[in-house]
Order: sequence, then C-alpha cells, then structure tokens
Amino acid sequence: MSRTALVTGGSRGIGAAISKALKAAGYSVAATYAGNDEAAAAFTEETGIKTYKWNVADYDESKAGIAKVEADLGPIDVVVANAGITKDAPFHKMTPEQWHQVIDTNLTGVFNTVHPVWPGMRERKFGRVIVISSVNGQKGQFAQVNYAATKAGDLGIVKSLAQEGARAGITANAVCPGYIATEMVMAVPEKVRESIIAQIPAGRLGEPEEIARCVVFLASDEASFVNGSTISANGAQFFS
Ligand code: NDP
Repeated sequence: MSRTALVTGGSRGIGAAISKALKAAGYSVAATYAGNDEAAAAFTEETGIKTYKWNVADYDESKAGIAKVEADLGPIDVVVANAGITKDAPFHKMTPEQWHQVIDTNLTGVFNTVHPVWPGMRERKFGRVIVISSVNGQKGQFAQVNYAATKAGDLGIVKSLAQEGARAGITANAVCPGYIATEMVMAVPEKVRESIIAQIPAGRLGEPEEIARCVVFLASDEASFVNGSTISANGAQFFS
C-alpha cells in the first residue's frame, strides 16, 4: 500500500522538488501553498499532484486542511514542514511585525503542521516528520535574527519530537539546506548572490533536487534508526 505524504509549501521551490521526488518514490502526495494560485495550478498541471491552500500560521486552518487531505488521500504517514518566509532587516531596523510574521510562519507553522497529524502517527505506530530548517539557523545570519531564530528553533523541535516519538515508531529529523537556487535566493541582487556563492566551497548554489533526495531518504524505511538528526546539505559551508 502506498504511503501518504504532506508537503507544506510544496508547490514551489524546494517544496516542489520534494513533492515530485516523493511522488516518484511511490508516495501519494499532497502539496500545500499560501496564496499563489497560479503557481499551484501550473504545478498540478505539470505533476498531477493535488494542491491545497491554507496558511500554516493558522492552527485551525491547518487542522481543517489536514483533515481534508486525509479524507482525500488517507492518513498522513510522512509530513514535511517546508513552508517558510523571510522578512530580513538588520536588528535595529527589524519591526515587531517582521519578527512575528516569520515566527508565526516558520516556527509556529511547524507546530500547526505536525500537531494535527501526530496522534494518528502514534496510533498507527509509524510516522516520519521532516522539517526544512536552514544553514542560517545553524550559524546565524546578518539581518536574519527572526529567520535564524525560527530555523534554530526547528532543530529543537525535531530533537524533542524524536524523543517523544521514538517508541511509537515515529522519527523526526531536519534538513538544513545551504543556499539553493529557488525564487527566494534568485530574488537577491546578482552582486549579493555572487558574494554568497564566493563563500560556498562547492562554488555554486545547490539545486532543489539535492534537498529533495535527503527528504526521500529520511522518509524511507531505510532511515528507521535516524532520529533527531540534522542533514546539512550546503556544499561544505562550515560554521562555528
Ligand atoms: P519559496 O519562496 O520558493 O516557496 C515557498 C513555499 O512556501 C511556497 O509554496 C509558498 O506558497 C509557501 N508558503 C509561504 N508562506 C506560507 C504560509 N504562511 N502558509 C502556507 N504556505 C506558505 O521558498 P524555498 O523553496 O526557497 O524555501 C522552502 C523552505 O526551505 C523554507 O522553509 C526556507 O526557509 C528553506 N530554505 C531555503 C533556502 C534557499 O536557499 N532557498 C535555504 C535554506 C532553507 P505560495 O506559492 O502560495 O507563496
């Protein structure tokens, strides 16, 4: 029987690559998005993967959306909390609004995505929770106090969930991408992007598919004893 996977923010960028790779690996996949209907429609047209619209920052919307996915595709076995945003500003210019928007989407959004599927995973004695964190959560980043806080928080979430889920057959792990060639990064001015690339020992941006392959591994039966871990996929960007 094929397993069901939910990928938040699964219609664009890294999430789209994850949705496609999970589908290719045999999962029934549901991909969510926030509001870009055009991109979601194009994604469904291209891949045949059904998309669902809700705001991960809203618990009730997430719970209702997840219930709809489960009614359509069956119980969710694999949840990939990927949806994320940036609202960058140096700390002295960061507004409370910029702080809260990023916390609500990237951190509370993970709670809102995993909490509704957790009881079912416990009951069925199987689950895979995969959170897309970031190299900037591991090392911090200028003008990203809000973003780095959420991505470091993601690592605390998976390490704690791993301990709570281990005896119930549930694993929880994080993937920390380095800089990946998605719209988020390609929107950065070319000069800044070049300076970023100069700091990556691999000498290039990563591809979304390189993150997707990490997720497919963590979702698989082969990864059954990998729990509470972080896979760093960043072209050898080290940090202290
Ligand atoms: P994109 O901006 O390309 O795509 C973001 C996706 O998340 C879209 O599908 C978007 O929906 C969805 N989304 C955004 N906010 C919400 C929300 N409130 N509720 C539901 N869905 C939402 O992002 P990336 O692919 O670049 O990033 C994906 C993840 O990887 C993020 O968590 C990011 O922090 C992380 N990451 C990215 C890196 C990179 O270099 N790109 C590096 C390290 C980590 P819609 O299409 O409707 O806007």
